[in-house]
Amino acid sequence: MAVEVIMPKAGSEMEEGEIVQWFKQEGDEVKEGEVLLEIVTDKVNMEVEAEASGTLLKILHPAGSTVPVVQTIAWIGQPGEAVPGADGATAAAQEVVKEVAADVKVPETKAEEVLPKRERRGEYDVAVIGGGPAGYVAAIKAAQLGGKVALVENRELGGTCLNRGCIPTKTFLHNAEIINYIRSAKDRGIKLVNDAFTVDMEQTVAVKNKVSKTLSGGVAGLLKSYGVKVFNGVGQLTADKKVVVDEKETIDADNVILAGGSKVSRINIPGMDSDKVLTSDEFLDITEVPSRLAVIGGGVIGSELGQAFATFGSKVTIVEMADRLIAGMDKDASVALEKQFRKQGINVLTSTKLLEIVDKGHEVVVKVEGKEDIVADKVLLSIGRVPDNTCLGELADKFEMERGRVKVDEYMETSIKGIYAPGDINGVKMLAHAAFKMGEIAAENAMGHHKKVDLKATPAAIYTHPEIAMVGLTEDQAREKYDVKVGRFNFGANGRSLASNHGEGFVKVIMDTKYREILGIHIVGPVAAEIINEGSTLLQTEMTIDDVMDIIHGHPTYSEALYEAMADCIDMCIHAPKKKTK
Ligand code: FAD
Repeated sequence: MAVEVIMPKAGSEMEEGEIVQWFKQEGDEVKEGEVLLEIVTDKVNMEVEAEASGTLLKILHPAGSTVPVVQTIAWIGQPGEAVPGADGATAAAQEVVKEVAADVKVPETKAEEVLPKRERRGEYDVAVIGGGPAGYVAAIKAAQLGGKVALVENRELGGTCLNRGCIPTKTFLHNAEIINYIRSAKDRGIKLVNDAFTVDMEQTVAVKNKVSKTLSGGVAGLLKSYGVKVFNGVGQLTADKKVVVDEKETIDADNVILAGGSKVSRINIPGMDSDKVLTSDEFLDITEVPSRLAVIGGGVIGSELGQAFATFGSKVTIVEMADRLIAGMDKDASVALEKQFRKQGINVLTSTKLLEIVDKGHEVVVKVEGKEDIVADKVLLSIGRVPDNTCLGELADKFEMERGRVKVDEYMETSIKGIYAPGDINGVKMLAHAAFKMGEIAAENAMGHHKKVDLKATPAAIYTHPEIAMVGLTEDQAREKYDVKVGRFNFGANGRSLASNHGEGFVKVIMDTKYREILGIHIVGPVAAEIINEGSTLLQTEMTIDDVMDIIHGHPTYSEALYEAMADCIDMCIHAPKKKTK
């Protein structure tokens, strides 16, 4: 299907743009991301990249033309493909132009409205294996689009996220948050008779289980309301692309969505099989706070649980191979977290290789390279996760794989037509909200659409104290590709933060100096995981710093710090002292 190239709307004030030159001619091959043309608007020149690969079929407006924003200016597609509308504007594009003229933001055409009628061949339109974030969302989406859907799950609905991941860890972390509030009470004039506490892990685990059960039950209710037939058991593909449940029942569906997710990763090191070495799955059911806890892996899970247990009273040591904690985040965030951990008495050993774990019966000794042994009561092994490929069944050796992961394209389709694999199973972005989106896209395509997934503005968060969140590029990644300027604002100058004892941390914004586009946002501080959603919206809608300057943020709010950091990118931050000119 041909893809239109439109005059971009690069800023809220832009109503039209002039085409300066085309870098490609009709008939030329173009690659997605390649520069197609140059435009000028408000005396600013900018390059427009191709959003799809193919052949440049038709140029509708030559160099020198002035075209209203979002009007179609060219078509890309397969050689010989017909392009709609002699004037180049599809009905949808013309609608958009009309609405923009009225200064109204137009929602994207709803998928349901353009759904082609499809004839079901098998008993179901779609069979989904796995009832985690990718699977249950895919099932609901396919049902919303009119599909008859079956879902197979061998454990609890809601998958890792609701039962062994996102939600259980956040119930533990909320206990840590309560303890921090109790500790800060007396400095704020709240006199407690006694601020001593102990954490009853049996009750903590019971609360966690209740929350998981409520949410998992909620997913069951949602699936039922959409008429999705749920099978309990292990689902696997057969050689003829059907799904067999527990090697008994067979589901015949036109398309299959594999959403088997992931499982904990283990390493082959002496002593790993000790019953004192727990993965996050087992650790979330621990019945006592260990006096001494060694955490292997200072990534997201190790940092969150390590800090929670340090707050509960454990003496915690974190062993990390990389040269910093949470190595996927911006360096400044790692530095801030390590500083906070040390302040809290957590022993952080970075650039440290684990050698062996020796179970001495009453305790374990963790041996690491070049440093003193760590003596602990329990070890939390949090070194990452690997895809759970059991659902591949008899077709396991037929899929194209990439480092043990099922390879998918941007449509979430695997190398086998009609079989999709969203979520952790493909290893593209192992986060629940990324799995939601990938699940939706897989379902839409299984139901006959042709929609790509766009994960560039996926936020990521770590729910430590202080919270950490990011979206887009880190400063190092941005500097490799762009000329950048960094804006910063400290929560220490934000009214709501100071009023609430949350004056630590910062917001950091990375801006491309050419178009003043926002490339990355990094937050260390209060409700970072909430504020970052605003950042995702800004990145997804490709807003520039100048656009953001027109937005009014409520006061007093933590998110004013994001606005201030954006303003700092262009040296226009009001609540920071004037910068000295060099
Ligand atoms: P899963 O959630 O793993 O679901 C897959 C489901 O498929 C499972 O229920 C499994 O039982 C089932 N299944 C597998 N094979 C079969 C089969 N053959 N037949 C039938 N059923 C099958 N992400 C965040 O975004 N935020 C967080 O705060 C966060 N915290 C986390 C904390 C921890 C401790 C962990 C471990 C993970 C965390 N994650 C977090 C990651 C998040 O949980 C995953 O990215 C998300 O659950 C992936 O969803 P999924 O549907 O792809 O897979």
